[in-house]
Amino acid sequence: MPYKSPLQDTKFVLENLLSPHTDLDISTIDAVLSEAGKLADNHLAPLNHFGDKNNPILRQDNEVQTPEGFKTVFSKIAEGGWIGVASEGEYDGMGLPGRMSAAINEYWHGANMSFALCSLLTQGLIDAFTLVGTDEEKRTYLPKFNSGVWTGTMNLTEPQSGTDLATIKTKARFDGENWRIQGQKIYITYGEHDMSENIIHLVLARTEGAPEGIKGISTFIIPKYLKDDDGNYTIRNDLKCISIEHKMGIKASPTAVMSYGENEGAIGYMLGEEGRGIEYMFIMMNRARFDVGLQGMAISEAARQKALEYANTRIQGIPINKKKGTPIIGHGDVKRLLLCMRSLTEAMRALILVSAEIMEKAHSGNNDCKMKEGFLIPIIKGWSTELAQEVTSNGVQIHGGMGFIEETGAAQYMRDARILPIYEGTNAIQANDFMFRKTLKDNGITAQNFIKEMYSECADNKEMIDVINLASETLNFILENRDDQEMLSCVSFDYLMGFGYLVGGWLMHKANLKAQEKLSTNPKDDPFLRGKILSSEFYDLHILPRIQTHFRIVMKGANVIKLSNDSLI
Ligand SMILES: Cc1cc2nc3c(=O)[nH]c(=O)nc-3n(C[C@H](O)[C@H](O)[C@H](O)COP(=O)(O)OP(=O)(O)OC[C@H]3O[C@@H](n4cnc5c(N)ncnc54)[C@H](O)[C@@H]3O)c2cc1C
Repeated sequence: MPYKSPLQDTKFVLENLLSPHTDLDISTIDAVLSEAGKLADNHLAPLNHFGDKNNPILRQDNEVQTPEGFKTVFSKIAEGGWIGVASEGEYDGMGLPGRMSAAINEYWHGANMSFALCSLLTQGLIDAFTLVGTDEEKRTYLPKFNSGVWTGTMNLTEPQSGTDLATIKTKARFDGENWRIQGQKIYITYGEHDMSENIIHLVLARTEGAPEGIKGISTFIIPKYLKDDDGNYTIRNDLKCISIEHKMGIKASPTAVMSYGENEGAIGYMLGEEGRGIEYMFIMMNRARFDVGLQGMAISEAARQKALEYANTRIQGIPINKKKGTPIIGHGDVKRLLLCMRSLTEAMRALILVSAEIMEKAHSGNNDCKMKEGFLIPIIKGWSTELAQEVTSNGVQIHGGMGFIEETGAAQYMRDARILPIYEGTNAIQANDFMFRKTLKDNGITAQNFIKEMYSECADNKEMIDVINLASETLNFILENRDDQEMLSCVSFDYLMGFGYLVGGWLMHKANLKAQEKLSTNPKDDPFLRGKILSSEFYDLHILPRIQTHFRIVMKGANVIKLSNDSLI
């Protein structure tokens, strides 16, 4: 059975864990989800394995040919208006709330993550132009992005400048009329491809005479094609793709080395103000990091579906107390793996959609939600992408030897998922952000508020109360040791993971209560709701204990790292 967009699961979270949105009724939610689901299942998913085997090709003329079928499906998605799903109607967007965009994006990434990266990046540019573009820039770019006629890329990374963007060397000089950009960017996702008429690159570069470090960096809009005298975009800018990478996963998405300004200098237009490039990137980063966490959840769901199907069909051994011929799902350990995949995926989905609502409110000016958004983003990115490693690996395990063989597609999910903890700020950066900026910078107030909210909502769940108390103790430890930043940096990852599991546990507990409430008013035995309760009970007993490990490591495990001599490692 191929990938199927999990509409019922999405609706369960939207209807039970979020407050209703004034502009959304149930019939709109149903219609949008089911249309998007059909596109994902019928058009994107069938190209997933094919694209993994038939990778993009860099031609002699420096143009990139995407796998057969990608271009046609991209037009379908674009014509349906799906790229601009949350963009304003004024610029031809659908104008739907962020929660709907998040819900739909799960289906695109679950069906075909390599393909969906192109629209993910274009949505990032939609956000960038909406936030810092001039009215003219909005009029020029947003309708083109929303309709998918043009797509966008983010160009931050250079060979010497990955995590630390302060060392960027790409130069921008003003020639009296235009900004001219020169430099090389690496690992640029969809930096070159044949799915849109024009590609708009957002490029970080250092202006002439600007100060060293991040203050000297500005953001430039660099189109592949520039406008001619007739107003058409036909003039080739001075930029090209000089190679594409051979990768472990997401092989169907072209990852380009881009060269800017080998001749007269690529023409670029400064976005916003000079010297504020990194600041703008940080504004966009919340969205981008949210999307990468979402990718982790989406690919976990896809891996889970594949494993479940295999477990229901493969016959091997007679499970204890079962009849001969019972498929492997009858074995206790296979059930454990499947339940683990399910409960982790459901916890991630709940976190992502609940956070989408918080982000909607944050963007309309709610300060409390702004703090919550900032706090949750590193958890969404870091925790969900770590879980995606475990879930996709469990998927391989359930397939036994066949999991290691490429034909089944289980291995592809695991390979594709491996990039997630790396790009958009490695998980080390998420962990440090969570420890230092999101916890210590506000004296632990947001963390404390979350702890209080969880405490009051989980009063009847002893497992949760135990770990919430431990979270409180851990937070106090961190606040007491705030001056020893080196020590805290050695355990920031465990702090992030512990908190991730905690927030996941809280949302799974709420889902459990809602499912029980619905079952009590519905005398029919509903396997869907029973499944939700089972998944939440599994989370309580098998996943919550991990929090103890992570938080104990925070309180006890730092010095063995801090005081270790590099030569002994
Ligand atoms: C497939 C793919 C697609 C990508 N797409 C894009 C794109 O579209 N646009 C773009 O600009 N970039 C893109 N990137 C680049 C990506 O964002 C970087 O690879 C990533 O930020 C890490 O940088 P780096 O590779 O230089 O690793 P490094 O920065 O060299 O990091 C190496 C290791 O050191 C650790 N480390 C580094 N600094 C710290 C620190 N301060 N604290 C703790 N640990 C640290 C890291 O966590 C990591 O484990 C892509 C990369 C890949 C592989």
